[in-house]
Amino acid sequence: MSYRFQYTIFTVFLCTFRPRRFRFRRYNCRLSNSEKNLEMEEHVPSVASLDLVVGDPEMLDKKIAAIRLAGPQKLQVIADFDATLTKFWVNGSRGQSSHGLLQQGNPEYDAKREQLYHYYHPLEFSPTIPLEEKTKLMEEWWGKTHTLLIEGGLTYESIRQSVANSSIAFRDGVIELFEFLEERDIPVLIFSAGLADIIEEVLRQKLHRSFKNVKIVSNRMVFDNNSRLISFKGKLIHSLNKNEHALDMAAPVHEQLGDTDVPSDDNASVKKRTNVLLLGDHTGDLGMSDGLNYETRVSVGFLNHNIENSLECYQKAFDVVYMNDAPMWGVVKLVTEMFPIGK
Ligand SMILES: [Mg+2]
Repeated sequence: MSYRFQYTIFTVFLCTFRPRRFRFRRYNCRLSNSEKNLEMEEHVPSVASLDLVVGDPEMLDKKIAAIRLAGPQKLQVIADFDATLTKFWVNGSRGQSSHGLLQQGNPEYDAKREQLYHYYHPLEFSPTIPLEEKTKLMEEWWGKTHTLLIEGGLTYESIRQSVANSSIAFRDGVIELFEFLEERDIPVLIFSAGLADIIEEVLRQKLHRSFKNVKIVSNRMVFDNNSRLISFKGKLIHSLNKNEHALDMAAPVHEQLGDTDVPSDDNASVKKRTNVLLLGDHTGDLGMSDGLNYETRVSVGFLNHNIENSLECYQKAFDVVYMNDAPMWGVVKLVTEMFPIGK
């Protein structure tokens, strides 16, 4: 079947969602009720309606209203990093992941990590390996990779260089989303099974500014006085356990924002924010809010590839689905709808 023919079938398929897309566009009309929101509308580019699907517009309506009523002090944003905050395609090629971009300045060790990737990556997605066994394999993979990074003599300078040379880019609108949330003291927790130090360097180099409300929950490196990697801090976070530990590790950012009266080493401060805006590119990312007894959760899924086969599943799993590597402007509008500017 030719690509053009497949595309035609897909377009016809998408047309069945027309009333839903139209309904979501109505939110944009509501946004323009206040003058300030009209201003915001002018500055926020629209997202092509073909790139957006809302499975249950009435339910989304109710959730947005509930989050607005509870106020910004009850909301936290939980976001996956790779292919969620970052683009899937960069300059016509698959964008790099925070893990994939790392060149440790030692070709022998880069090759060894590459070999591990080719061995373990298919196992990670194997439908036949039981979860318990797969979890052990992932621990093995991450553990070996971290050892190679230490043995290979990774320096912070290599991270800086790798990010500078990488093809990784944030979706348009990410800065505006973070700014909007920062102004309202709404924490953004970025959960990743990658490396916190790399993600922070990507934020520094690609966004050119920092946000006091953004916290990375990921594997963190320890460097010696010569900026040479010597160990890793805390629990190992891999793709199959990132949800399990994320909330515990997220507590400090809430303390920094003054959410707790007494310092806490559990995740009580995280749990005080009972409304969640969750951003992910995989249905497994929905697990990032596991362990949080949330009242209202709005979930946004970025469906970047294999759209024909996955749309139905994503539409059931997420409240809002953005396709075709859409920018972040739709999410900016969504938070503006939750907390209208000037109110
Ligand atoms: Mg991802």
